[in-house]
Amino acid sequence: MLYDTLIIGAGPAGMTAAIYAKRANLKVAMFEKYIPGGQIVNTAEIENYTGHPKMSGYELATHMLKHTESLGVDLIYDEILKIEDLGRTKKLITPTNTYETKTVIIATGTVPRKLGVPNEETLLSKGISFCAICDGPMYKDKVVAVIGGGNSAVEEASYLSTLATKVIVIQNLDKLTADKKAQDILMAKPNVEFRFGASVLEFLINDNHMMAGVLIKDNKGNEETITADGVFEYIGLIPVTNMVKDLGITNNYGYVMANEFMETKVLGIYSAGDVNVKQIRQVVTATADGAIAVQNVLKYLETWK
Ligand SMILES: Cc1cc2nc3c(=O)[nH]c(=O)nc-3n(C[C@H](O)[C@H](O)[C@H](O)COP(=O)(O)OP(=O)(O)OC[C@H]3O[C@@H](n4cnc5c(N)ncnc54)[C@H](O)[C@@H]3O)c2cc1C
Repeated sequence: MLYDTLIIGAGPAGMTAAIYAKRANLKVAMFEKYIPGGQIVNTAEIENYTGHPKMSGYELATHMLKHTESLGVDLIYDEILKIEDLGRTKKLITPTNTYETKTVIIATGTVPRKLGVPNEETLLSKGISFCAICDGPMYKDKVVAVIGGGNSAVEEASYLSTLATKVIVIQNLDKLTADKKAQDILMAKPNVEFRFGASVLEFLINDNHMMAGVLIKDNKGNEETITADGVFEYIGLIPVTNMVKDLGITNNYGYVMANEFMETKVLGIYSAGDVNVKQIRQVVTATADGAIAVQNVLKYLETWK
């Protein structure tokens, strides 16, 4: 079967693209390698998506998925390993199958960046987490550290402070960089401490081979051992673009370079959401990108022969 468009990723960008494509009567399918919802599934609360004053990320993801399902979008649980540009058509390769399509919308988002310090790999799932909503409840009445000072770190630290006895926020800059409101909420919490201008040197392992804490160093060179049962890392994102690395459409950091029409430099290949070079990576910008991508897929398909 030759598809009109195939969407890679069922996060906010991909699901919105799927809704617009289905409503435009396109022959469309959407691929998801993990679970629908993307990064928002790992988000405790979303307060800034229009029309949803306060909602858990999981709930918002469920609404989005139900919306796509109500329109009959074909969701294929598989990972796209490679996109091949065959000229007029594109080939999508999964571990067991290939699919042919006139256009592709890449909506593969990002994954959390790791610190790359000693003992990090050993302690993954043994005390190191990137998802407060998933793993936070394990640290009820325990001590946790949060690495980072941007919106994700600050918002998730606030959530963790409702579970843990103490939250220690370790930020390499001398201030937080999150929104003022999010900072104010966190600063007002009685059980949150801060270490500014501090870098993580290594994670510490206890006798049970689990997390014991973090060794940090401040900008004056002083070292400190922070004892913690769990550590949550929010230090940035890495774009998921391994499937297009041969197409020359990414920048030096791996983000897809798409224009305001979500077109890449390869005709018929579009890209939407966090995976793109852009200023603000949020649900509202991802969904907008998904809609724009489909509008331009439609224009292109009018000329497709
Ligand atoms: C901790 C945290 C808190 C946040 N809080 C907020 C907030 O309060 N408000 C807000 O607006 N935004 C928030 N964001 C940002 C928001 O989650 C993202 O902007 C949004 O999810 C981006 O959507 P996306 O569809 O572009 O990508 P993603 O959500 O990353 O979705 C991409 C999807 O593609 C799938 N995928 C990737 N590669 C493949 C492949 N090869 N084959 C098949 N499937 C693939 C992934 O599994 C994933 O499901 C937060 C992010 C984080 C990490």
